[in-house]
Amino acid sequence: MSVAHDLDTSAELSPNDLEAFWLPFTPNRAYKKSPRLISRAKDLYYYTPDGRAVLDATAGLWCCNAGHARQPIVEAIQKQAAELDYAPSFQFSHPKAFALATRLAMLAPADLDHVFFANSGSEAVDSALKIALAYWNVQGKGSKTRLIGRERGYHGVGFGGISVGGIVNNRKFFGGLLTGTDHLPHTYNRAEQAFTRGEPEWGGHLADSLESIVNLHDASTVAAVIVEPMAGSTGVLPPPKSYLKRLREICDKHGILLIFDEVITGFGRLGFATAAERYGVVPDMITFAKGVTSGTVPMGGVIVRKHVYDAFMNGPEHVIELFHGYTYSAHPIAVAAGLATLDVYRDEGLFERAGELEEEWADAAMSLKDKRNVVDIRTIGLVAAIDLESRPGAVGARAYEAMDRAFHDHGIMIRVTGDTIALSPPLTISRDEMAGLFDGLGRLLDTID
Ligand code: PMP
Repeated sequence: MSVAHDLDTSAELSPNDLEAFWLPFTPNRAYKKSPRLISRAKDLYYYTPDGRAVLDATAGLWCCNAGHARQPIVEAIQKQAAELDYAPSFQFSHPKAFALATRLAMLAPADLDHVFFANSGSEAVDSALKIALAYWNVQGKGSKTRLIGRERGYHGVGFGGISVGGIVNNRKFFGGLLTGTDHLPHTYNRAEQAFTRGEPEWGGHLADSLESIVNLHDASTVAAVIVEPMAGSTGVLPPPKSYLKRLREICDKHGILLIFDEVITGFGRLGFATAAERYGVVPDMITFAKGVTSGTVPMGGVIVRKHVYDAFMNGPEHVIELFHGYTYSAHPIAVAAGLATLDVYRDEGLFERAGELEEEWADAAMSLKDKRNVVDIRTIGLVAAIDLESRPGAVGARAYEAMDRAFHDHGIMIRVTGDTIALSPPLTISRDEMAGLFDGLGRLLDTID
């Protein structure tokens, strides 16, 4: 892998300097013994304070789809900060906010035509859940309050998101959560699906559990179903064939809103602007974040269908239709970053590029099939997951060691969740870099006991 050494090498942090910052979703004591610090980034590479290049195989946290420090995005942010740093988001707005909403509506399928802005995936999810509840309320159907998520679903860390989410550690420390949620079973079954490329054949029938959950509670109490089209953070679980279509049919049959959480799958990750487009399924709402600004400035939001928006637009004109929003909704700098990012995606054909690379990416990932400790590999779009066998009594320890060694010794940034290594590089990755990545990972896996 090519390494550039002429970068800023200034920042040396002492153990004392590391004390104050409490890192999120990180074992802090282990981190502070072996800090993984990044001080610069350009294109596909991060650079450590001492100038080592690290190939970004995770697009940051699934977000830097256009690669790092891309000039048009950098310039748009700089220009916007000088021109209009902030505009109140309630009762006022700025022209570029409308422009970005229009661009996003054009990217989303069918009549997903209205955009509500937030600042993160978690806020996007909580906004979507609140819109779903209010949607029924404003139509006089206030009994429809139940929200149905899925086991192994990740929908951010707001109380709404962890309540519909299906990750026990994200739930069990935080009290009673939202009442009136329920969960579909997750769709992973190693015996049936191991080493699948793309959508597994097995598992479409699991969507039918929605029918029994709805019957148990009665459709008159159910507001919405939320799923990630491809579960990302819990180990990359592509949807089984026909699964999403069946969810849509059941929701239609019972008058239930369907929300796709596309915080990861949006903006090209699966070779399309949205997973909804890839799977030909039109949800009532799509949540987005991350890739909308290629990770440069925090932004998230919800794209809603016409019937959802219209349901709110019936009362007296001077009355607020939705009592919800954020100080930084459609923040001018995030909006400028978003517009410039969408230009890069369009001008460089990056969504299509991800689609074109999908087969080669899958071949390269599957080449690690026979490596030590590898028990499953899944691929879809420009995403791959490599499951390692757990060390006895130490779930996740092997993958964590791989992540730490990859960064320090092999110049590769990977992401781990439990025993799964997840890969999701910027969509700009070259074929050579792809080959180098899997070659490096192969050598890494050879050294992990
Ligand atoms: N939903 C999904 C599907 C996600 O993957 C994430 C973040 N990984 C979130 C929501 C939360 O996003 P954020 O961390 O920006 O709040």
